[in-house]
Amino acid sequence: AKEAGKNCYVHFRPEMLAALLERTQLTAGLRRAVELGQIMVHYQPVISSDRLDVVQFEALARWEWDGELIPPDDFIETAERSGLIREIGAEVLRRSCTELAPWLAEDPFRSVAVNVSGVQLQHRDFAERVLDIAAWSGVDPHQLVLEVTESVFFDAHSHVIGQLETLREAGIRVALDDFGTGYSSLGRLQDLPVDVVKVDKSFVSMLHTGTEKLPILTSMIHMAHSLGLKVTAEGIETPAQARYLMDHGCDALQGFLFSRPEPAAARERAVRNSVAA
Ligand code: C2E
Ligand code: CA
Ligand code: CA
Ligand code: CA
Repeated sequence: AKEAGKNCYVHFRPEMLAALLERTQLTAGLRRAVELGQIMVHYQPVISSDRLDVVQFEALARWEWDGELIPPDDFIETAERSGLIREIGAEVLRRSCTELAPWLAEDPFRSVAVNVSGVQLQHRDFAERVLDIAAWSGVDPHQLVLEVTESVFFDAHSHVIGQLETLREAGIRVALDDFGTGYSSLGRLQDLPVDVVKVDKSFVSMLHTGTEKLPILTSMIHMAHSLGLKVTAEGIETPAQARYLMDHGCDALQGFLFSRPEPAAARERAVRNSVAA
């Protein structure tokens, strides 16, 4: 083989063709799935620490393909690269608002959270589309939460911040997902247009007994609170983790301990069982 770097092009290898075809097929398959309405949403409950009640559901996309469910980690990146994330994101929001509307209508403090990719925020009509879907479905914007990761603020055109501010003025809340895994989360937090931080599950998984001290976690919670933000912890799998997070002031809890993400139909049954347990 020739030395790489000598020429300013890369020699085409058979495995590159295979990867390219795979990617093309994945994109084509995903486009078809979007058209056929095969992007599904599963919901995972979020429990409030004070009322021990389900106060929110997070919407998580699933691709139903040939009787199987493909997890988002296998298609979100392709969706972002192809631009399909825009349609998928809108579909997840539409479905969430429709499927949870009756549950949301019962209590104004209930909410639904959807994940938003930075690619969606690049489009200047993003805020308008979100508000249109809320209006169309009759869901109060105060009951909608958009989860973004810190990266949307790094490559941010100024209109990204502007759109989030527009949405917040309309009552929609913004949550900073995977908090603690970025580079400068702690320092920049006070400048970001967010209402909630979601402590990443990698921090929660460091809690084993519930009696140990985890200063990084407690200072994340304190700092968020001192900035007037709410704190949700995700990835809670054991009662000891839930106990520790409640004792240290976490406002809301989420994880397999309470329920895995489930289709809307299985939602109420799953929650009843987990809260009873
Ligand atoms: P995320 O937003 O951080 O969502 C949390 C992920 O952790 C979910 O995986 C959830 O099923 C999983 N999880 C929840 N509780 C536990 C637990 O106790 N233990 C462990 N080990 N895992 C737990 P999922 O559904 O496979 O989603 C993966 C990622 O895909 C999400 O991470 C999010 O970044 C992305 N994603 C999902 N749906 C959408 C969507 O509609 N739009 C966009 N842009 N991204 C999405
Ligand atoms: Ca999330
Ligand atoms: Ca997360
Ligand atoms: Ca994530």
